[in-house]
Amino acid sequence: GRTSNGLTKLGVNDFQLMKVLGKGAFGKVFMAKRKTDGKIYAMKVLLKDRVKQQRQVEHTQTERWVLAETDHPFITSLRFAFQSDQKLYLVMDYMVGGELFFHLQKEGRFSESKCKFYAAELVSALAYLHSEEGGHVVYRDLKPENILLDYEGHIQVTDFGLAKRNVKTPNGATTFVGSPEYVAPEVLGQGVCAYGYGYGKAVDWWSLGTLIYEMLHGLPPFYDRNKQTMFEQIQHAPLLFPEHFSASSQIMLRGLLTRDPAKRLGSGDEGSNDIRSCTFFTNIHWGQLEAREVEPPWKPKHSSTKREDDTSNFDTRGVSM
Ligand code: AMP
Repeated sequence: GRTSNGLTKLGVNDFQLMKVLGKGAFGKVFMAKRKTDGKIYAMKVLLKDRVKQQRQVEHTQTERWVLAETDHPFITSLRFAFQSDQKLYLVMDYMVGGELFFHLQKEGRFSESKCKFYAAELVSALAYLHSEEGGHVVYRDLKPENILLDYEGHIQVTDFGLAKRNVKTPNGATTFVGSPEYVAPEVLGQGVCAYGYGYGKAVDWWSLGTLIYEMLHGLPPFYDRNKQTMFEQIQHAPLLFPEHFSASSQIMLRGLLTRDPAKRLGSGDEGSNDIRSCTFFTNIHWGQLEAREVEPPWKPKHSSTKREDDTSNFDTRGVSM
């Protein structure tokens, strides 16, 4: 049968768990095969106790809301959801292309044209999340581990466990969250920015700038192995570019990596249009891009010789059931 929100009602027994794809803070993500038709899914299993203990109930509700209610070509959709006494289950399409992180590590860095494609799809996804339709969601956790590639090589943003809904003001969020490399300076030095205490959607544009820099260079701009040093550098160090960065990439990155969130590229009245119209993106046709008509720079191999449950694009070393 179907539940009121249109999701088919199934239980964990309708799936065969095949292997662990990844671990999050509150549970694991499994590759799971639906018994009736053998279709492969990714199943996120959250332990209710742990979610409650760590006061993550709101985050978990937001994650489910984003997966179930948003509708965007580059944002992961929920296929099924169910629960038992102890666990919550979120079932999504299995992204056979694996994490962008895996590909970046393998290649060291991406060419500018490759980077441009992924960056453009990310601009589209983030702009949607920030919009009314997207629930005024601040994503807060943009990093290459959370960007998956689907069967055609398009981006699928996943893991909304840190996202916050209804952030309509520039300081509608206050909690310290995010991954150290990608965290915006106003999250670190709260109280010193133009808006006073708190932060808003602009943190995602900062993270995007960091990620684009990392795709082009292999490391984020203010990277240091010591976290405190890195935080210090995110807030105060000059932004330097390797020689091979094009002028158009440098101009856009200076905009995205502007420390004052009020002056950051993407924060103006035109919102993400100011990012879309950067010279860096000149040859991107945004309509075609959002219709998934721009051909991805890399396509997962899933010919007849490869199975649908292929995990060759996942780093599964050290991960066990
Ligand atoms: P998460 O806790 O949502 O970040 O998921 C942890 C890891 O599980 C991710 O980094 C991916 O490697 C993997 N994963 C999550 N969702 C999917 C999916 N839909 N398809 C394939 N792998 C996934």
